[in-house]
Amino acid sequence: MPRLYEAEAYDTAHWPDSHWRATAPPAPDCPALTSSARADIAIIGAGYAGLNAALELAEGFGRDVAVLEAGQPGWGASGRNGGFVCAGSSKLSDRAIRARVGAAGAQAFADFQAASVARVAHNLTRYGIDADKGPEGELALAHSPRAWTRMQAAPLDPGARLLPPDALREAGLYAPRFHGGVLEPLGFSIHPLKYALGLAQAAHSAGVRTYGNSAVRDLTPQGDGWLLRTDHGTLRAGKVLIATNGYTDERLPPWLARRVLPVLSNILVTRPLSPAEQSAQGWTSRVMAYDTRRLLHYFRLLPCGRFLFGARGGFSARPSALKEFEATARAEFEILFPGFAAARTERSWSGLVCLTGSLAPYAGSVPGADGLHAALGWHGNGVAAASEAGRRMAALMAEGRQTLPALLRQAPPRIPLPRRAMLRAGMAVLRGLDGPVARIKQA
Ligand SMILES: Cc1cc2nc3c(=O)[nH]c(=O)nc-3n(C[C@H](O)[C@H](O)[C@H](O)COP(=O)(O)OP(=O)(O)OC[C@H]3O[C@@H](n4cnc5c(N)ncnc54)[C@H](O)[C@@H]3O)c2cc1C
Repeated sequence: MPRLYEAEAYDTAHWPDSHWRATAPPAPDCPALTSSARADIAIIGAGYAGLNAALELAEGFGRDVAVLEAGQPGWGASGRNGGFVCAGSSKLSDRAIRARVGAAGAQAFADFQAASVARVAHNLTRYGIDADKGPEGELALAHSPRAWTRMQAAPLDPGARLLPPDALREAGLYAPRFHGGVLEPLGFSIHPLKYALGLAQAAHSAGVRTYGNSAVRDLTPQGDGWLLRTDHGTLRAGKVLIATNGYTDERLPPWLARRVLPVLSNILVTRPLSPAEQSAQGWTSRVMAYDTRRLLHYFRLLPCGRFLFGARGGFSARPSALKEFEATARAEFEILFPGFAAARTERSWSGLVCLTGSLAPYAGSVPGADGLHAALGWHGNGVAAASEAGRRMAALMAEGRQTLPALLRQAPPRIPLPRRAMLRAGMAVLRGLDGPVARIKQA
């Protein structure tokens, strides 16, 4: 099976009806590849990973780069995410990371995550991208008394602050079902599609050729490089980077089959909330936040006064299933933010994030395929990580210079079980462990 979900999830003829698409400046469509072209390096996928790699290869290493994108730049997760620029690109615990790559490797991964956040800030400045950058910091909210006890017992990172409910209220970050929180200094929010389109524009200015509506159908070794076929053209390139994350076609190359686990994530955005409504709820801050559930919710107030609320846990991209998933997310939103319950959903959409068989991202070469590389598996937190890993992949591909942390260099194993059944069972277990959000209304 080349892809895990129904065809609707991969229909690049349509953009999701997202708040981002409604509020980003219009961008000219990139034309399709309709000829036999050549490039030093081909990149498949024009999201943050592919565009950052393309920019670094062109600007930093003077390479001739062509990007092939099935839709248009930012069509994938990069144009439809929550806009949290944050750490968290692995699902492994700190202890598991140390067991896998040692203390120095764990520190290198922590440094990579901090560098990833800084990379996005740097990109915004360097390319003059106005992406509605929000305040610094990210708030984790304890969803249960037990989570709050654990939070209080855990060592605090430098610059982090514990916030009991009173302090949350004072900070304008209050919702009655949370028991306390910890505000980490790392991270900030952005308009994700403005960032993606800004990168695409910068890549164009740097001489990168980006072909839209150009899904790669076939990838074969040819001479000392690779031949990529699209519906209307071909591209020959010495090296290739696969940067397709949750939208990966698992035949390209077959090595990828069953090493990735795409997972649906859903976002709803309300109508604008008046200052009085915000004050009545106790949530007036623009700091971004998430809760400590295993199937977490993430949320933030947008600069326009609308509220963004995200949830994970759908199993199917069929419209009826997505509607059900949206209804559950909406019910949970109303329980967690009763003061906002009167604000209807203005837009709701979903997209695919990407887990891997190792529960960590992979950025490196494809074993047994000279010149073929992949960078994917950001575990739902790729705004920052995909940006920085794309940059570091460029150094690896252009000069063989390895700057990626060891955790990202370990190829993920194949996932042995049927993945959708595994997801369904896994999510049921996680939901059980999290406990009900409380009195969830039926769709
Ligand atoms: C609803 C949602 C909310 C999220 N929220 C956050 C968040 O707040 N913070 C955070 O850090 N992360 C978040 N993420 C995850 C984040 O968006 C991704 O990790 C990140 O955008 C991945 O970037 P990428 O470039 O690797 O992949 P993508 O942006 O998904 O790009 C991959 C591209 O590859 C293209 N493609 C696939 N196959 C082919 C082919 N054969 N030929 C040509 N092109 C192809 C696709 O069309 C797609 O555009 C969220 C994701 C979703 C879906």
